[in-house]
Amino acid sequence: MYDVIVIGAGPAGSSAAKELASNGYAVLLVEKMKMPREKSCSGILIKKSMDLVQHYFGEETPKFVQCTPTDNRGMIFINDKGEEFRFEQEGLNIWRSSFDHWLAEKAQEAGAEVRQSTTAISCEEKDDCIVVQFKNDKIYYETAKFVIACDGAVSTIKRKLLGTPGNYITTYQTFNKGTIDLDPHYFYAYLQPRLSEYDAWFNVKDDDLIFGVAVKDTSRLEHYHSEFISYMYTQHNVKIEKQVKSEQWIMPHIMPGCPVDFCKGRVLFAGETAGFLNPMGEGISSGLESGHAAAQAIMQTSRKSHMPDEHALLSAYRENTAELRTYMLRQWRFVASIASTFSHMK
Ligand SMILES: Cc1cc2nc3c(=O)[nH]c(=O)nc-3n(C[C@H](O)[C@H](O)[C@H](O)COP(=O)(O)OP(=O)(O)OC[C@H]3O[C@@H](n4cnc5c(N)ncnc54)[C@H](O)[C@@H]3O)c2cc1C
Repeated sequence: MYDVIVIGAGPAGSSAAKELASNGYAVLLVEKMKMPREKSCSGILIKKSMDLVQHYFGEETPKFVQCTPTDNRGMIFINDKGEEFRFEQEGLNIWRSSFDHWLAEKAQEAGAEVRQSTTAISCEEKDDCIVVQFKNDKIYYETAKFVIACDGAVSTIKRKLLGTPGNYITTYQTFNKGTIDLDPHYFYAYLQPRLSEYDAWFNVKDDDLIFGVAVKDTSRLEHYHSEFISYMYTQHNVKIEKQVKSEQWIMPHIMPGCPVDFCKGRVLFAGETAGFLNPMGEGISSGLESGHAAAQAIMQTSRKSHMPDEHALLSAYRENTAELRTYMLRQWRFVASIASTFSHMK
């Protein structure tokens, strides 16, 4: 029996597995894809994420996971009235495939057993353990005292345990060769309702110009994306020579109050699975922080008793993430204060 099974090797899963393994816990980290795997993302590590990587993994983010321009210098928001808000801040531009692979390797070096190309199907809580069903080329089971589900926005594990429907937005971004009159060192977010149902964004990775939109109604994706390109043409003289790639993804729809699902019994939820995501779609820092907080909650309560009661576990996890929730709520108040898209959201 493992002490902890961690499901999903994104930032949340790897930070949880690293923390537990470094402290002598027997940890199995399971990832459904073969790593390095793709994850649709703008790949901006804000200063907070850079600091958390250093703090939790004991190293700076390595050069080989970075893309050009390597330094992100901040974010520029354009609100529904076309007003600009600039936030200068140190940051990094990374590829998620190599960044997430590196984090998982660090968890493995700390002693976690990492099992790739393996999907967790379900968790069943018994009196003395949790039974997790897996699938690779066969169906089989493993047991643990605790599970941390970090299987991302869609989380089949959480949906099966809670039985509640997910609330998602769909993201769509295209990678293009071309030119634009904008500084590639910044991430640009556009909050005008005619450009998206949530936000639209522009950033640069290696030589690609990336244009993205987020919607509730997926049938409107192409419409908003072409509105956004037209807007960027009139405002910033974009010239697209060739579209090289497009990606569609899902993220949790963060609502006012930033609700979070912490756990079901001894199965804790972390990262996007729990709802830890900042309103502008920045979720690497909250993934790292909540994964670490879940691991700490297990360590704090299992030191006192072999099989801690669920209330002690929940209250330790709540306490460990209190600051993170305050940060999310502060971010929410900020976007609601600058754009009606967010202040009118119900
Ligand atoms: C278009 C877009 C742009 C974004 N840009 C940024 C950005 O610039 N900066 C930022 O900080 N955040 C950004 N985000 C948000 C960020 O990507 C997420 O918040 C972050 O990845 C969440 O981390 P996580 O560990 O919770 O989940 P994930 O990173 O989604 O990891 C979940 C892992 O679980 C695995 N998995 C899923 N199901 C199972 C299963 N059943 N069994 C085993 N494994 C499973 C998946 O393969 C995956 O590896 C962006 C998101 C999108 C969609």
